[in-house]
Amino acid sequence: MAARQTADRQAGWRQRKARSSQWLTGLGLGLLAAGLTLLMWWGGLFVQVRLALDDVLVVPREPSGGVVIIAIDDPSLEQYGRFSEWPRHLYADLIDRLAQGGARVVALDVLLSESSAGDDRLAEAIAAARQSPARTRTVLATVGTQRDAASTDLVGYQAAVGPVTALSAAGALVGSVNVVPDLDGLVRHVPLILRLGEDGQPSLGFGAFLSHRGVSAALLDQVVTRAPGVVTLPGGLAIPVDSVGRMRMRYFSVPGHSTFDVYSFAQVLSGGVDPAVFTDRIVLVGLMEQTALTDSYPVPGSRDGTLMAGVEIHANAVETLLQSAALRTQGRPGQGLTILGLALLGGLVFRLVSWRWFLPALGGLLLAWVSLVLFMFNLRGLVVSLFFSGLALLLAALVVGVYRVVEEVFRRQRTEILLASALGAFEQNFSLAGILNGITDDLDRILGSTGSRGWLWDGPRGELRLAQPALPRGETLPPELRPWHDLALEALNTGQIVTRQRRVAVLLLWHDTCVGVLTGQARWRLGLLRGDLLRRFGWQTAEMIVNARLYEETQRLSDFKTRMIRMASHDLKNPLTRIMGYAELLQAKVEDDGVDGLMVKSLEHIVQASEEINGIILDLLDLEHARRGLDSPEAFDLLQVLDDVIMRAENDMQRKGQAFSVEMPETLPHLTGNAAQLRQAFGNLLGNASKYTPHDGRIWLRVRDLGGRVHVEIGDTGYGIPAEEIPHLFQEFYRIKTDETRDISGTGLGLSLVKAVVEAHGGEVWAESTYGAGSTFTVELPIFHPDDRPTHAPEPGAPAG
Ligand code: ADP
Repeated sequence: MAARQTADRQAGWRQRKARSSQWLTGLGLGLLAAGLTLLMWWGGLFVQVRLALDDVLVVPREPSGGVVIIAIDDPSLEQYGRFSEWPRHLYADLIDRLAQGGARVVALDVLLSESSAGDDRLAEAIAAARQSPARTRTVLATVGTQRDAASTDLVGYQAAVGPVTALSAAGALVGSVNVVPDLDGLVRHVPLILRLGEDGQPSLGFGAFLSHRGVSAALLDQVVTRAPGVVTLPGGLAIPVDSVGRMRMRYFSVPGHSTFDVYSFAQVLSGGVDPAVFTDRIVLVGLMEQTALTDSYPVPGSRDGTLMAGVEIHANAVETLLQSAALRTQGRPGQGLTILGLALLGGLVFRLVSWRWFLPALGGLLLAWVSLVLFMFNLRGLVVSLFFSGLALLLAALVVGVYRVVEEVFRRQRTEILLASALGAFEQNFSLAGILNGITDDLDRILGSTGSRGWLWDGPRGELRLAQPALPRGETLPPELRPWHDLALEALNTGQIVTRQRRVAVLLLWHDTCVGVLTGQARWRLGLLRGDLLRRFGWQTAEMIVNARLYEETQRLSDFKTRMIRMASHDLKNPLTRIMGYAELLQAKVEDDGVDGLMVKSLEHIVQASEEINGIILDLLDLEHARRGLDSPEAFDLLQVLDDVIMRAENDMQRKGQAFSVEMPETLPHLTGNAAQLRQAFGNLLGNASKYTPHDGRIWLRVRDLGGRVHVEIGDTGYGIPAEEIPHLFQEFYRIKTDETRDISGTGLGLSLVKAVVEAHGGEVWAESTYGAGSTFTVELPIFHPDDRPTHAPEPGAPAG
């Protein structure tokens, strides 16, 4: 019971340990996957895929209607000639009309950097519009030249080309029209504020938006506050930006299909458009020619090379600002943590689930993660890199998957080695030397080398001696083996596997008892998996050695017993026979001479005691004979055997006035075996029945043919046997001393003989009894066909034949 509990406890402990080591490897592998992902992330790999995957999240939105585009389109170019030579008054006329229509802001995505005759007229128009009832503000374009790599907090240019002074002096705002594509060439961001030379300058779109809100661009530095990642306007409007002040905008249309209201420049000037459509709106003016697209760029959604006009990109930027819908890219620390967290989670999950759930778990995690990202995207405009977060999960799956496959391969290999070694031990027939030999060979195999040694712990002497290869008797350990001996001792003292560089000592432990140590040289440093294999190998080996030792001990005892019985048979029997012979001779002589009674009585006792000893010796010899198995089985009739037994016992029963009944079938198939031994066995049973039944008791013998088996039941209404004694009945010399049977003589060998004989015939015997009421002994014998009679292997230790 206690052993069972310990075993249960150990199993529980082992399970917990396995579980926790699974957690640890899961986390470790997750960390590895995270490291790989972070490396790729830092290395800026897969830019194209990463950006493209982020675009999956972006779905075009509905514009609010606050932005209008006036397109310098093909008909306008046809009408007014080469664009670069357009007279300034065209713009002046346009601004007049728009102011008349009540437009809030007019932003010209046209660079007016060279002085021209019409500059004054345009300056007037700008000033007049500003004074008009709608207070229409004009934003003019400037452009940064030569990107300034030194500028790290803002997108910077070393110089700028802006509108001629006459125009800006007229009260127009100036905004940069620089477009800054991402690494894949697509435009997703627009700078809100740029550094042009020394000055901070808003972009055209941001300038237009500021004007729309009534903020003067001249006051940009005073009213707009910049903090890392955010630009704040008066009234608390916060616009997320990246580290260089770029806003990630939303798109409201795809290239080639503008969803903004677009009017042709020429048409507006010719009066074909009701000026009222511009009331309160922000009007962006720019090139939108169909044929030779000069100011146009690829954007998300640009398929088949369709580009989006710069003015429309600015329109999208303004619209994003109007709707406060700027996107926020997850910051560097956030991204790093996300990658780490996902890889660790993946590592754990993929390590703990069974193979069957591996792919479903991967699919489930990816799906859950994409849903969460979409949710955050829509709710908070947060862009989480789908590529790297997905990669973290995928790599975790890959790393854990590979690890598990390798582990599986090792486990199979390990099982094979352990099984082969156990089988090898079995084939050694429990010979300790043979087993040790096999074990060192197996250790060689595990370590990938040769020359492993086995050391056995000699408890009584307190020394560890080399057992494989065995030292010749009386020889001391050669000096070159001393270090190995010390290593083995170290394993013994620390109670674990010890490694010194590539030298290994494996402790052989069996239930906290040290059996010995194996030493060997590994070809490579021991890995985790191999260490585990060695530990198991140590346990298994220790058990094999213990079993072999037990077996040797049993065999030694069995040999001793056989020798004892032989000694009894030959060395005791002869002198005893002589004692009995002389005693009987004396008895006859004394009776003839009529000597006194004391002499006669003494001689009688001597003869009786000698007969008792002789009885024990004969029983022992019979027992030993029966246990050797059947030597030359013959067919015989069991009914005939039982008739003989009955005939011999009937006398005793009659003398004790016991009633005896017999119930037998007419015939029985013949049995094969030794009739004389069975006669003796049944004689013992029937004799006991009479012996342990008082006068006038009842005894019966019943034979039943059960088809293939025969039952012989011998019952009595005698003294019976206490229940607790029944399991010991068939042991040698076991006698039960109850009040009723104390004085009945016997050797305690009769039932042992019954059992040995019945088992030699492939049968079984058992007893049922109620103390004080009687006993029944049943013998069951198989009826074999002579051909398929199994041969009975002799008991271990008994000489064959
Ligand atoms: P013994 O020489 O003492 O009869 P056995 O091996 O034949 O040795 O029997 C062992 C013990 O089993 C006996 O001492 C006896 O107490 C008990 N026993 C055997 N047969 C019977 C029986 N039929 N009724 C009661 N007790 C029995």
